Amino acid sequence: MKEKVSKNVRRITPSRIREMSMRAARYREVISLGIGEPDFHTPPSICRSALADAEAGATHYTPTRGDNELVAALQEYMIRGRGIEMDQSGIIVTHGGMGGLTASLRTLLDPGEEAIIPEPCFPTYPAQIELANAFPVYVPTDFDDGFVIRPDRIAAAVTSKSRLMLINSPNNPTGAVLPGHVLDELARIAVEKDLIVVSDEVYDHLVYGGKHESIYTRPGMAERTIVVNSFSKTFAMTGWRIGFSFGPPWLIEEMMKVAMFFTSCPSSIGQRAALAALNTDRRVFAAMEEAFETRCRFAWERLRKMPGIRINPASGSFYLFPSIAAITVDDTSFAMDLVDEERVVVVPGSAFGPSGAGCIRISCTVDTPILSEALDRIENFIRRRMS
Ligand code: PLP
Repeated sequence: MKEKVSKNVRRITPSRIREMSMRAARYREVISLGIGEPDFHTPPSICRSALADAEAGATHYTPTRGDNELVAALQEYMIRGRGIEMDQSGIIVTHGGMGGLTASLRTLLDPGEEAIIPEPCFPTYPAQIELANAFPVYVPTDFDDGFVIRPDRIAAAVTSKSRLMLINSPNNPTGAVLPGHVLDELARIAVEKDLIVVSDEVYDHLVYGGKHESIYTRPGMAERTIVVNSFSKTFAMTGWRIGFSFGPPWLIEEMMKVAMFFTSCPSSIGQRAALAALNTDRRVFAAMEEAFETRCRFAWERLRKMPGIRINPASGSFYLFPSIAAITVDDTSFAMDLVDEERVVVVPGSAFGPSGAGCIRISCTVDTPILSEALDRIENFIRRRMS
């Protein structure tokens, strides 16, 4: 009966991140550095506010663009936080950052067209591009460049079928942050080659030792960039499933058609929680950001001293992406054996694309004492392997 399933769906491989978690489910006392979500709960005041709004009747469909108050608050948030002035017609609230990706990719891609994606990348990108009957065109990035994109490789990947490039900074899985001069160059290529840019910035608040910059602000880019963002990571709200995108109003209008027929609107109560988050003192979230930075730096210090490990400095997101190639090139067996022998979950780098082979992704999403214990176990494992 499997042949009844669309070829498109059959060719998609299930998430290897979940596969690792399923393997770990066999064991007790497992430490997971596998899943990319904040360990912090949504602050209680936000939950209370959302529940009170639900009791007061915020339980109905909202406009497809989003709850009117939330859209207005997002307009204000972008001016205050990023200095970006935006008409409300250029904003859409989505079902998480995922909803923004679905709406933008479905809006932009026709069957047979190409979307350029630097890899290693978030596995959702190729899956969603393929579900739109289009083709992901992978552009490799290198460990020795800190996994920062080389713009000339993007330019070389452009063909007559290229419709868009999809970039992600700070990056999942590598933690790379694109420097300003690379954004300048990517913007120049996008304008010259007439590409739309989908810029996934869901980790925009997690930049260490610098400030987040968006390609949207580069000359000529406001007309051709969709920025995908989310409440999930910044506000510890993964389960509420609220994100937002902004871009040129003509494109957001088209994305609204896709959003309308895929989801009608995002969850009403989730949107009320998002509104409460925007009205919450930023220091609450700044404390979480500091915790992620402290943990990433701590783990980096430990890992870089371990035998066989090469690692780039932590520059953004809550991921580290060390190379284990001097220990083994088989990152999948490494990750599986690490679960079996030491009860620590990491994700094999090859799950994120060919350039991730020989690396592992470590999420610094547990408190430092637990992280420290996990790193002890990783070090024991490596020393055994290398002896
Ligand atoms: N983009 C990236 C790079 C991510 O890592 C994630 C989640 O892990 C998402 C988008 C999706 O975020 P959301 O939970 O808001 O759908």
